Amino acid sequence: MNNSLIPTTWRSTVYRILNEVIPVATKLNRHGMCDNTLCSLCQSEDTILHRIRSCGLSKESWKWCKTKLIDKFGINIDNFDEHGIFQLSFETKKDGNVWQWFVCALFHFNIDSPSKTNLNQYITLLRSDRYEKCKSGALSKFSKKIFCFL
Ligand SMILES: [Zn+2]
Repeated sequence: MNNSLIPTTWRSTVYRILNEVIPVATKLNRHGMCDNTLCSLCQSEDTILHRIRSCGLSKESWKWCKTKLIDKFGINIDNFDEHGIFQLSFETKKDGNVWQWFVCALFHFNIDSPSKTNLNQYITLLRSDRYEKCKSGALSKFSKKIFCFL
């Protein structure tokens, strides 16, 4: 993923996802480390995508992000699995860097604590990263695109 706009912490979350080192119950069960595959919070099948888009409060931020990406880019993130999102879809699409930035934030934000996060906190995360980039002069053409989102 060659996107210098993605902060290091978000990037390392994405690598954890792609390398399947997130200890979701389906994975632990497969390795004999858990006797079921259910999410301890909601009793649904516990997968990475479950945590990112349907567990607890993560639903809100997923829905918000999805709506923004459909409106601005015509991209529906419901159509991808986590590998599709990171490996196939970004580079080939117009403005890939911009929507990759949104989705990486979403993954980073939701993956470890879907029950605690809410939409306002997700938007705050995006705004503070945008602010840091403005301050450091890292935004150029990119700035125009992300400012219209937030
Ligand atoms: Zn759950």
